[in-house]
This record gives sequence, structure tokens and C-alpha cells, in this order.
Amino acid sequence: MIIGSHVGFGKDQLLGSVKEAISYNANTFMFYTGAPQNTMRKEIDENLTKEAQKIMVDNNIEISKVICHAPYIINLANNLDLDKWQFSINFLKEELRRCDILGISYMVLHPGSAVSLPRNEALQNIIDALNLVLDGSSKCKILLETMAGKGTELGINLEEIKKIIDNVRYPLGVCLDTCHLNDSGVNLNNFEEYLEKFDEQIGLDKIHCIHINDSKNNINSHKDRHENIGYGTIGFDNLLKIIYNEKLKNVPKILETPYVGKDILDKERIYPPYKFEIEMILNKQFDEKLIERINEYYK
Ligand code: FE
Ligand code: FE
Ligand code: ZN
Repeated sequence: MIIGSHVGFGKDQLLGSVKEAISYNANTFMFYTGAPQNTMRKEIDENLTKEAQKIMVDNNIEISKVICHAPYIINLANNLDLDKWQFSINFLKEELRRCDILGISYMVLHPGSAVSLPRNEALQNIIDALNLVLDGSSKCKILLETMAGKGTELGINLEEIKKIIDNVRYPLGVCLDTCHLNDSGVNLNNFEEYLEKFDEQIGLDKIHCIHINDSKNNINSHKDRHENIGYGTIGFDNLLKIIYNEKLKNVPKILETPYVGKDILDKERIYPPYKFEIEMILNKQFDEKLIERINEYYK
């Protein structure tokens, strides 16, 4: 089982990320190279990177299973402001270069939002942008994330994901997100059926990451609000079936569930649930007292 969570990437860069992952007893992790909501980035520090890589080896964290996530403000789908579109393209190229320096093999990307454009045109913009980003010089592969369909998001069904993959010159992969699948209308009571369709249209060998999140909303809600494992509408049993699916055995599972606290608005006293959610998943036993235990542990 390769399982971890989203972690920070602060002043200690990858070294901080690895240490945080280890504190959750994770054997992989996902990070942004800076704040996810902006594009301010520092140069990658060679010494911190080397130390991080050493600690990974010592703790059986396979760097080939570690995931980077591109910032979600970059939008390849809308080119009405050409400068902004070009900025997104350049930034993504830079992200791939940073991943090469860090030794990271996969970068998750939100395909983009159409905003005021027709969906077909927006989809073509994503294809054009990725054909400009990719030139075969980076070892890091872009994984298109399956989206919930909030607002005008693209990549919300197999057809859209397939169209992008088929029309980009260099190979792309896919990152499934269980909350997004549910919110986009996929019935996770029957995940096997979805996997079969996925295999027919795209191929299971394209899946290199799965975001494991429960959902606060019902199927087909197009909301995209993550919930803690077993506390949402997907439910613990359905999530376990996905996590332990034989066909996805070697695919890293990444938790992006919300921090918890007695008062969720009290930002000083909300805590990461990942250590406890990972433990619960490995025990295959839902813990009704999960939130209380997390509060107790970190207080
Ligand atoms: Fe994402
Ligand atoms: Fe996600
Ligand atoms: Zn999401």
C-alpha cells in the first residue's frame, strides 16, 4: 500500500515535506512547490533536496511515487487574455523544471476552466497549451486530474480527459479524485464499472495517482467539497474498496481531506487528520471517534 497525504513545502522545501509525511506514518506524499493559490516560487535548494532524498531512502519512501501538484490558479483553458494564458504555459514549464531538479516524476494538473468560452474551444486551448508546454525535455509527467464540474471546469468525464490525452503530442497520465468523481456524477457504489469504462477508453496504465477524499455533497452535485474519510456521502466501505482495488495496487493514494478542530473557524486550532486517517485505512476499521482522537493528540 502506497499511501500519504498532501503536505506543506515551506522554507525547508522538500525536506520539510518529507518530515511532515513521516510524522503521519505515510510512505508517500504530495506537495505544491509553494502556495497553491499563487505563483510566487523560490529557487530549489540543492542541499535541502539532497537531504530530503536521503531521508526518503532511509524511510522507504520511493521518490518515484511522490507527487507534485501544479498551483490551481493557472488556467490553460481560457486564452481571452493572451498574456495570462502565456503566463500559465511558462509557469507550467518552470514547474516541470523544478520537479526535474527535485527528482519528482509526476505533476497533477487541473485541466482548467472555460469561464466564458464554449467548452469545445476551451478544451482545444488546453490541448494547444500542453503542446506548447511539453517538448520532451522534462522527465516529469503531467497527470490530468478528474474534476468535479464546479463552475466551468473541464476534465469532468472520460470523454474530455480522453480528448486531451489523444491530442497532446507527449504522453499524459491521469489522477483520479474520489470526491470529484462523486460530485461529477460517477456512482462509487459501483467503482468497478467506472474502472472498466476507464480501461476501455483511456487505459488503466495511465492512472498514476488517486486522491482519496470523502465528499460533503451528493453524487452529481458539482460542488467539490472534500470530507474526512468515512464522514461523507461516499462512505468508508466504498473508499476502502477503491484504496484496496487490486488493479490500482501500485498507484499512490493521496489524502486531501480537511483539517479538523472543535471550531473549524479557529485557524490556530485545526489539525491535520492524516496520521489517523492512514491508520484507520490500514486497520480497515472505521473509527467513529476519529475527530475527537485527532483533537486530543494535537492539543
Ligand atoms: Fe487537485
Ligand atoms: Fe484532488
Ligand atoms: Zn477538490
